[in-house]
Amino acid sequence: MMKEYNIALIKGDGIGPEVVDGAVKVMNTVSEKLGFSLKFTECLAGGCSIDEYGVPLTDETLNICKNSDAVLLGAVGGPKWDDVDASIRPEKALLGLRKELGLYSNLRPALLYEALADACPIKGVTSMDILIVRELTGGIYFGKKGRTDDGAYDTEEYSDFEIRRIVREGFRYAMGRDKRLTVVDKANVLETSRLWREVVKSEAGNFPEVSVEFLYIDNASMQLIGRPQSFDVIVTSNMFGDILSDEAGEITGSVGMLPSASLGDPGKPGMYEPVHGSAPDIAGKGIANPLATILSAAMLFKWSLGEDKASDMINEAVNKVLENGLRTADIFKGEGKLVTTEEMTSAVIESL
Ligand code: NAD
Repeated sequence: MMKEYNIALIKGDGIGPEVVDGAVKVMNTVSEKLGFSLKFTECLAGGCSIDEYGVPLTDETLNICKNSDAVLLGAVGGPKWDDVDASIRPEKALLGLRKELGLYSNLRPALLYEALADACPIKGVTSMDILIVRELTGGIYFGKKGRTDDGAYDTEEYSDFEIRRIVREGFRYAMGRDKRLTVVDKANVLETSRLWREVVKSEAGNFPEVSVEFLYIDNASMQLIGRPQSFDVIVTSNMFGDILSDEAGEITGSVGMLPSASLGDPGKPGMYEPVHGSAPDIAGKGIANPLATILSAAMLFKWSLGEDKASDMINEAVNKVLENGLRTADIFKGEGKLVTTEEMTSAVIESL
């Protein structure tokens, strides 16, 4: 019998539906070629869910996601729901999904495509291939916070368990790549960072082939600009990973090219989404770059379905269309062929 996978599809708001539609077409093409089938179940989250149900994330959507093999998400949010004082906000859907699905590991590859080297804002940099592994459910974003009579506080807390499971992920990914792991922290100041270092040192013995480098976050931010081509895998805490992954993303030239995966324990559904937001300024115009979402689908095939061949096929097809000079507006620098979302999607499918 043909293998069938269940994928929860959250198109979301703004350009979300446009880029997800492109990724679904690509996924269907690949699955047909390789002889497995995909069953997509569409569900609402974010602003569209607030409009329909009054909340950004319903139990129904959550259950569909929990019972799927993986979740593919476009983007949520937009000016319509942008009142910062509102208690019901689209982003709460993302936090809810991360928490309920136990997605503690955030993978953010930052790859500078040779064909897009011109888009890199750093002079002389022509290559970069970094995987940032960010802890996603702990640290200062989730610690105790509050107001005092004349101030406010946020707390960074990490347990040995939380650090160890993400650090092991970092080592495992490094093993599958160039066997180099950079640990980013602020161990000269923060007690949590000192615990990170202890845990890394105690885990390093289990991965003797991996060389480990420790960098303070301030230095890492500089080194990433100065020698981006020299990093392989970076593992770090929630907040440092949030900031560094955006910095690394910027070096690749466009947010429209950046995929991501958020994973929990093995066997549990992972969530895959482009790094960019709902881009309300270009929504509905048909010009959004679908490649970040298509590359997120490639990650989904690899990390949630174990369909490595499908993943490789998509990555190669994307590389090829870029080499052939196709460019959506965000990566168009005056050379090559300016194309729409649909044309870019069709080119990837043709290339497959
Ligand atoms: P954004 O990423 O949506 O847009 C930033 C800039 O990048 C815009 O000029 C946009 O046109 C461009 N851009 C983004 N994706 C693109 C693509 N695929 N192709 C071409 N150009 C693209 O960030 P923003 O403007 O700060 O946020 C817009 C909304 O998205 C906000 O409501 C924000 O809260 C939300 N947001 C959602 C997510 C998410 O769902 N994960 C992430 C970030 C922001």
